[in-house]
Amino acid sequence: MLSIYLHIPFCLVRCAYCDFNTYAGLDDLMPAYAGALAREVRLAGSRSGGAVEQGGGGAAHTVFFGGGTPSLMPLPLLSEIFVALRDSFNLTPDCEITLEANPGTVDLPYLQGLRALGVNRLSFGVQSAQPSELQLLDRLHSFEQVIEAVRLARSADFGNLNLDLIYGLPHQSLAMWQDTLARTLQLESDHLSLYALSLEHGTPMRSWVYRGLLPMPDPDLAADMYEWASETLRAAGFVQYEISNWSRKEVGGRKSEGEDSSYLRPRAFDFQCRHNLQYWLNLPYLGFGAGAHGYAGGFRYSNVLSPRVYVERLEGSSVTPQFPFSPALRESHPVDRDSEMGETMMMGMRLIAVGVRERAFQERFGIGLGDRYGKELRELKELKLVEWDDEGARLTEKARLVANRVFMEFV
Ligand code: SF4
Repeated sequence: MLSIYLHIPFCLVRCAYCDFNTYAGLDDLMPAYAGALAREVRLAGSRSGGAVEQGGGGAAHTVFFGGGTPSLMPLPLLSEIFVALRDSFNLTPDCEITLEANPGTVDLPYLQGLRALGVNRLSFGVQSAQPSELQLLDRLHSFEQVIEAVRLARSADFGNLNLDLIYGLPHQSLAMWQDTLARTLQLESDHLSLYALSLEHGTPMRSWVYRGLLPMPDPDLAADMYEWASETLRAAGFVQYEISNWSRKEVGGRKSEGEDSSYLRPRAFDFQCRHNLQYWLNLPYLGFGAGAHGYAGGFRYSNVLSPRVYVERLEGSSVTPQFPFSPALRESHPVDRDSEMGETMMMGMRLIAVGVRERAFQERFGIGLGDRYGKELRELKELKLVEWDDEGARLTEKARLVANRVFMEFV
C-alpha cells in the first residue's frame, strides 16, 4: 500500500539551524500553491491504479503534511487538498493522517477544523523547554505555548500526538537537556522524536560555529544525552522502535495487534509512526509539492525546489507525464534490485527492536540475508555492532551511536 507525503514550504521565519526546503515571506503564494498541490495529487491519482507494482491500486494508508510549517495553511486551502486526496486515492478507513504544527500557530478552532478534515495525528516542533535554547534556535514559541497547544490538541480530540526535541546544542548542558525532557514527559505525548543537532551546510548556525561565535557542540556530551534519554524514556514506558523515535505503549487508543510478519507492522507497538515506517521499510510513497521526494514505480524522484516554479509548472502543464512523475519533476533515477536490497538493509537497520527480518527479506527478494549479506553481517556481528539470528539482523545497543558505520556496509 502507498504512503503520501505533501510538502508545505512556508514558515514564519527561517530557523538558524534549518536546511529544509522552506521559505519565509511567501504567504501570498499559499492559495496558488494549494491549487497546484491539488492538481498534482489528481494527476498522480488518475494514473496510479495499475502502475504501482507494490501499491494496491491507489490505496494509501498514511498521509503526512510536512514542511515547513503546514499549520500555517488556512483550513479552506487544506480542505481543497483533502478533496483532491479523497477524489484521487483510496484512503484506508484507519489511514494515519499527520500534520506538522508549530505550537505558536494553532488555536482550538483551527485544531478542531483539522480533526474535521480527517487529520488524526499531530506533530509539534517543540525542540526545547529552555528559553535561551528556543531563542538560539530562532523558535518563535515559548514552552508555555507548547503546554497550551498540547492541551488544545487533546481538547480537539487528537489521540495521537508527537513532540520533537533537539539535543546536542551549543551551550546546552546535560542538566538543561534533562530538564527539557522531564518537562516534556509531563505533557504525556504518545510519541517522541529526539534529534541530535546537525550543523548543515549553508545554515547560519553552522557559520556561527565555524566563525567561533558559538561553541562547537560536544559529540561525547550529545552521546551522554542520548543514552540518558533512552534510559529515561524506557523507565517512563516508551518503546524505542527507531534510532531517534519512541512510542508510548497502548493505553486505551488503537489496539495492539501483536507480532505480525508483514513488512508494514514488524511488531505492532501502538503509536509508532506508520508513515515513517513506510520509509524505514523501504516501501513506496508519493511525494507532492516543491522539493518533495517520492519512491514509486521503481524510481526515486524529486520535484523542483522553488514553490513559485512548482506552481508555474503545475499551472502550465498540458502533457501528462508517466507515473509517478509530475510536471514539476526535477530529477529521477531508477532503483535496480541490488540497490533496493541495500536500501532495505540500511533503512531497516534503523528499526531498533526489529531490524531487517529474515522472512520479510526472503519474501521480497527471493534470497536470504546470509546468501546476500553473509560476509558483511558476520563482520558486523564480530564487531558487536549487529545481532544476527534466524529472525533477522538488528543493531546492538552499542551500535546505536555509530549506526552510520553499519549502514555503510550496505551501500
Ligand atoms: S519552523 Fe521548522 S521547517 Fe520552518 S525554518 Fe524552522 S525548523 Fe525549518
